[in-house]
Amino acid sequence: MIIFKSINKLNKEVDFKANIGFVPTMGSLHNGHIYLIKSSKKYCKKTLVSIFINPSQFNKKKDLKRYPRNLLKDIKILKRLKVDYLLTPRVGEIYQNKKDRKIQLNKNDKIMCSLFRPGHFEGVLAVINQFLKKIKPKSIFLGEKDYQQLFLINKLIKKKFNVKVIPCKNIRDINNIALSSRNILLNKKDLNKSSFVATLLLNFKKRLKKNLLFRNQIPNIKKIICEIKDIKLEYLEIRNKKNLTKKFTKNNFKIFISYYNKKVRLIDNF
Ligand code: AMP
Repeated sequence: MIIFKSINKLNKEVDFKANIGFVPTMGSLHNGHIYLIKSSKKYCKKTLVSIFINPSQFNKKKDLKRYPRNLLKDIKILKRLKVDYLLTPRVGEIYQNKKDRKIQLNKNDKIMCSLFRPGHFEGVLAVINQFLKKIKPKSIFLGEKDYQQLFLINKLIKKKFNVKVIPCKNIRDINNIALSSRNILLNKKDLNKSSFVATLLLNFKKRLKKNLLFRNQIPNIKKIICEIKDIKLEYLEIRNKKNLTKKFTKNNFKIFISYYNKKVRLIDNF
């Protein structure tokens, strides 16, 4: 694996005319990331992984400071997976101007996480925009775990770039919790609570698939979640999985949740 600390160097040494798959991450790699990487390795000739903790997507300084960092362990994992290239750029190389740090959202897109984390997606879109302006992969691999993020990046790419978006399924652990780098910040008891929430919603989804009338149970489900100690619900919503509107049928809905488990903010979808 070749490690590039600068995009300039990467561009000099990598032939982007070849079929290159790009997997952007913020590191602290887990099996969710590994699934994306394996998908890229399957469909592309070469795989480029980036590890870049993007400051402009953190709306709270404390959250950025606390975000887990495990570069040496990550490099070991990537070498084991036989990844071709790792990119670990500096903030100054990604953002040369202040205006590069945010891309504004449409009014319609200000739903769910964009309401609860103002400026977050503006920063996510900005970093993807900067990456794709500077490097030219054929495909980009993104996880459905961050479904709203995937939706917004898809829109950005359709408008501006000639890159294929490959969505990859949300990977869970055996307790049904969606894998996330932030899970490291939870103890066993906290994880049990998140496992309970995920299992509750997986079962709720099964019921909804049989009969949408079960949506009337949303207030009850919310109540059950809110009564768990140290869990603070931000939103629990059912939306159309194609356009994220509230018009959906039995065949095209998804359940979206965001909540705090103690101080750790978690999102998931089912
Ligand atoms: P992150 O490092 O959290 O910014 O995530 C980098 C990429 O990995 C994003 O495309 C995420 O959607 C994806 N990802 C994170 N967690 C999972 C998961 N549990 N399953 C699938 N993809 C994931």
